[in-house]
Amino acid sequence: MIQKNIVTRFPPSPTGYLHIGGARTALFNWLFARQTGGKFILRIEDTDKARSTDEATRAIIDSMEWLGLDWDEGPYFQSERYDIYNAAIERLLSSGQAYHCHCSSEDLEKRRKSAMAKGAKPKYDGKCRELGLGPAPGSVVRLKTPHTGTTQFNDLIKGSIRFNNEELDDLILKRSDGSPTYHMAVVADDISLGITYIIRGDDHVNNTPRQIQIYQALGESVPQYAHVPLILGPDKARLSKRHGALSVLAYRDMGYLPHAMLNALARLGWSYGDQEKFTKEELIEKFSLENVGKSAGVFNMEKLQDLNAWYIRESADDILAKGLIPFLEKSGFKNLDKEKAKDAIATLKIRSKTLVDMAESARFYFEKEIIYDEKADNKFLKPDMLDLLLNLQARLEQTSIFDQEGLEKTFVAFLEANQIKLKKVAQPLRVALTGKTASPGIFEVMEVLGKEAVLERLGKAINHIRDKA
Ligand code: GLU
Repeated sequence: MIQKNIVTRFPPSPTGYLHIGGARTALFNWLFARQTGGKFILRIEDTDKARSTDEATRAIIDSMEWLGLDWDEGPYFQSERYDIYNAAIERLLSSGQAYHCHCSSEDLEKRRKSAMAKGAKPKYDGKCRELGLGPAPGSVVRLKTPHTGTTQFNDLIKGSIRFNNEELDDLILKRSDGSPTYHMAVVADDISLGITYIIRGDDHVNNTPRQIQIYQALGESVPQYAHVPLILGPDKARLSKRHGALSVLAYRDMGYLPHAMLNALARLGWSYGDQEKFTKEELIEKFSLENVGKSAGVFNMEKLQDLNAWYIRESADDILAKGLIPFLEKSGFKNLDKEKAKDAIATLKIRSKTLVDMAESARFYFEKEIIYDEKADNKFLKPDMLDLLLNLQARLEQTSIFDQEGLEKTFVAFLEANQIKLKKVAQPLRVALTGKTASPGIFEVMEVLGKEAVLERLGKAINHIRDKA
């Protein structure tokens, strides 16, 4: 059954780049919203002023855009929403669900220590709870949490989770400097934005009962929770830098296609039988929280690379061109001929693992001057090839149809007239045209380069051989 009015959110803290784990959380929320015709909201949790940066916010937004995870509302910035948090705190104070606490941090520390000395838990002892104090300089606001019973929720991935209220002390909602605490801001935001599903990393499980208690104190309905297991490296250790770059933008810069990345992210903890490849539409259609496993997802760079190579092979040339051109531009080629780039891509896509790879292999198509690889030059551009190459040059000058078919005909005649096999001339010609001994098929290369460039490069190679003689 399709549920209605589903609202999910992705609320990153802009204290660093968007990493694999965060991107996966964003994707799951996005998929769930898209699948149900709901809303997906982006909220930047930037209340930690010391650690939040504009650069990180930019990188998060760029990453989301690159992955194609569009949001229906936002980005909201928590730093601009204090009025909402303060209003929620006021509501709790006036309904008696929260209270002002005047205990100084020194006093608290002393009492904590003496509690611990007696073997008790070092939690807030509730001294100000029933005193009916008003605000005072340096005071905080605390939630009057229930001290008996349990706070329970039915996690859509982990099942029923229960915490003893005894374990949870009276949470601070407003700090002594007047700022709302993290839990207060998150809950007030999630209520004000109408969030119905919270899908997040399972490092937040312990925050959930605290947040539920705030909902309950406000008399608001509690959203559904789904806590996604963390991500491990192939060695089953918690995913870290040594398993490969972790920021989404680093993968973009390494030449991964956004869809390959999206596909790999989706498979981190979620599965659909043993299907590995999904179009975006299939992901939206097939994603379900029931199929998110209880155990950690494993991120495997090699798998990502294979997926990427597959998607490069399968992608349309013009889409690849859009991705490839920035890499070529970065390596110094300006004002590239887009049509030529597309033609070049058609010859390279079956042999490229990443766009970086492809840009490297595509260089020779755009280079003004071919630099010969030294070994290739010594082995194939030899004086004994001179006559054959001159003969070929003359024939190519006469060739008007410079596509693969036309070129094949020209070559058949040329090989026959000289009683040689293609092998004899293909490598010297390849070195002349590309500078290297490995390239796409020689006729493909010639067609993409075009007659003028082929004759120019061949002429240059002939002169180069003459200089050696
Ligand atoms: N800002 C939190 C984080 O980046 C998100 C918390 C949440 O999803 O509630 O981990």
